[in-house]
Amino acid sequence: MTTPLLPVEDHRARVLALLTDGPGAGPGAGAATETVPTAEARGRVLAAAVVATEPLPAFDNSAMDGYAVRAAEVAAAAPEAPVTLPVAGDVPAGAAPGVLAPGTALRIMTGAPVPDGADAIVEVEQTDGGTETVAVRAAREAGSFVRPAGSDLAAGATALAPGATLGAAQIGLLAALGVTEVAVRRRPRVLVVSTGSELAEDPQPGSGQIRDSNGVMLAAAVEGAGAVSVRRLWVADDVPAFLGLLDDELAGGGIDLVLTTGGVSAGAYEVVKEGLGPRGVEFLKVAMQPGMPQGAGRYDGVPVVCLPGNPVSALVSFEAFVRPALRAAGGHAVTLRPTLEARITAAVASIPGKRQLRRGRLDRAAGTVEVWGPPGSGFLGWFAGADCLIDLPPETTGVAAGERVAVWDLSDV
Ligand code: AMP
Ligand code: MG
Repeated sequence: MTTPLLPVEDHRARVLALLTDGPGAGPGAGAATETVPTAEARGRVLAAAVVATEPLPAFDNSAMDGYAVRAAEVAAAAPEAPVTLPVAGDVPAGAAPGVLAPGTALRIMTGAPVPDGADAIVEVEQTDGGTETVAVRAAREAGSFVRPAGSDLAAGATALAPGATLGAAQIGLLAALGVTEVAVRRRPRVLVVSTGSELAEDPQPGSGQIRDSNGVMLAAAVEGAGAVSVRRLWVADDVPAFLGLLDDELAGGGIDLVLTTGGVSAGAYEVVKEGLGPRGVEFLKVAMQPGMPQGAGRYDGVPVVCLPGNPVSALVSFEAFVRPALRAAGGHAVTLRPTLEARITAAVASIPGKRQLRRGRLDRAAGTVEVWGPPGSGFLGWFAGADCLIDLPPETTGVAAGERVAVWDLSDV
């Protein structure tokens, strides 16, 4: 019996719903929040608006090194007819706001408070730079080189809206406003479970054994998606051991997603399928290469996504299904990788009926993409040298050199 293969979009929607709808759906559903220090908030998503409680800048200050003056008193100044004023003192950055006596100038530095009575700054370049008296060689209108209080942000204005991703500029703004902690969306918490009796526990694999690369790889992918890899675990191809491990790990709560690798294909000893299939997790075939066998559902109410064991299949599947869902659950507005179009440098064949995601290397300047390595799902060495996935639609049987193809940009690690 052959069941039709499920389109990539359908499985993606299923995994998205699993993480963002219904009971135990994780932080996306209840929009759970937590408070973190601003200095540690890079990459986090703001949960509530931040309103400026004070104006930015907080006081009128000088935009230039120069002289604080009354604009009217230097209105006649010109290069050939400078206006000379006594310098009543200095206003360095950090000085308390002072007063400008009529008929005088104050030497002022960038960022220093504009003294009462002054309404313009003459840049030092337009003067003789004097310290006893100053010859002003240019007239300046009232307001020149003064940054008024609140000119960047008025008190009471929204500094950042909910949903904003906190990068360097946003964190700098929060610091300038004196906001030392912020309410952010809680990051989805993921348990990564590698299955396979071939996986070595010791650093040195015995005969027939291999190292568990999927566990660390997917933990890195989880973190790269803005989620938290809580723990990485390994279990042999032993159904009671596998289910026992899940029971132990989930008993304490706090896990939003269990991500397994291996044990989902058609062979014998398919521990994940044998363990979770009877417990309501659905195992299906997606019209995709690599990464055809997939699983998704809930165990004990907790979302579980089961990826195939071959490392390339596992990571491509993560990109196709898990990353978008984790991003959505974490409140990120952008959930998909940036996609672009590029001309492929050589002809490539594709199996009809399956969406093919080939590893590629972009040449951005040339607008081209090169297929990087063979299509097989074990070539992690090739994947590690790639920076994108070439997305060939299911109906495509092949593309010719020079044809335009869609590309998922993976360069943001
Ligand atoms: P499976 O899907 O369990 O049949 O696994 C397919 C193949 O993927 C295995 O034979 C291993 O070669 C490889 N594999 C499975 N799990 C891992 C892992 N955690 N790390 C590295 N390779 C793995
Ligand atoms: Mg296996």
